Amino acid sequence: MTPAGPRKVAAYIGALAGLGLILAACSSGGGADPAEYPEDNIEVIVPFSAGGPTDTVTRMVAEPMSQDLGVQMVVQNVDGAGGTVGAGQAAAAEPDGYTVLMHHIGMSTAPALYPDLAYDPVADFKTVGLVTEVPMTIIARSDFEPETFEDFVTYVQENADTVTMAHAGEGSASNLCGLLLTEALGVEVTAVPYDGTGPAMTELVGGQVDFMCDQTTNTTGQITAGKVKAYAVTTPERIEALPDLPTTAEAGQPDIQVTVWHGLYVPAETPDEIVATLTESLQVALADQTVIDQMADLGTAPVSEEQATPEAHTELLEEQIGTWGEIISASQGG
Ligand code: ASP
Repeated sequence: MTPAGPRKVAAYIGALAGLGLILAACSSGGGADPAEYPEDNIEVIVPFSAGGPTDTVTRMVAEPMSQDLGVQMVVQNVDGAGGTVGAGQAAAAEPDGYTVLMHHIGMSTAPALYPDLAYDPVADFKTVGLVTEVPMTIIARSDFEPETFEDFVTYVQENADTVTMAHAGEGSASNLCGLLLTEALGVEVTAVPYDGTGPAMTELVGGQVDFMCDQTTNTTGQITAGKVKAYAVTTPERIEALPDLPTTAEAGQPDIQVTVWHGLYVPAETPDEIVATLTESLQVALADQTVIDQMADLGTAPVSEEQATPEAHTELLEEQIGTWGEIISASQGG
């Protein structure tokens, strides 16, 4: 064995120092150099099935973000349990900016609904920014008997033991809207859960389930094509994409009001520089005329630049966790 020469010692010390830097970088964000980010494609987890409204909004925004960032935002549908499977996978991902999560209002309902939730929506994530806030519509299979929302209310009240309602799992937007609706009508109906309202819509169009409450980003096309019957929109005002559709309030049910906000998240240890890069890119995407037009066609709009920020997003998330926590615990008698 020969003693190490000065060069070898210097190289060894250099390697150790390098390793130290790598380890430090790993502990603060997965080893990526934030200044070089992004160097590779970014996985966007959508916690519901392909073809549904969360998936649709994600793909709209992913396209201009990919162009802006110079890498592909690759959508990955990780569905199940009202969005909690995909959100759990995102929380446990490397905090290096190469896994992001698009989720909706379900991020704020899950803590109250799932006592064994594998993640904390606030502590285990950093917010990137809000994306859009989408109205919901009450729709049914095209041959469902009631013609107007008033008829629908009476029909569901009289046939509560046989009608079926689709939703995307506990805590999903369709589940919350469905609960608001059935509570306002004073009935309980058989709920049929899916891994997203994409597959639920397929079954609704096929006539296997009676009705559903879902975002306009999934329902507008089917309504205008006459593939489903539409009764009402859950916003205070009618919406431009569906001008003939009355509001729930107009039809005598002012308590059924709900819109579905969406936001982008990264795991909590993701470096702030990476979050800032993603926020800037999100803002570019939301100002893109194609995105604005696509959203308008589906009854929604991008949020303002001030809302597409971590600060506004965190504020809303925390407020909504409190609001939904109270509503859910009151509905569970707590
Ligand atoms: N619209 C669904 C929900 O009810 C989710 C989806 O499929 O995007 O939460």
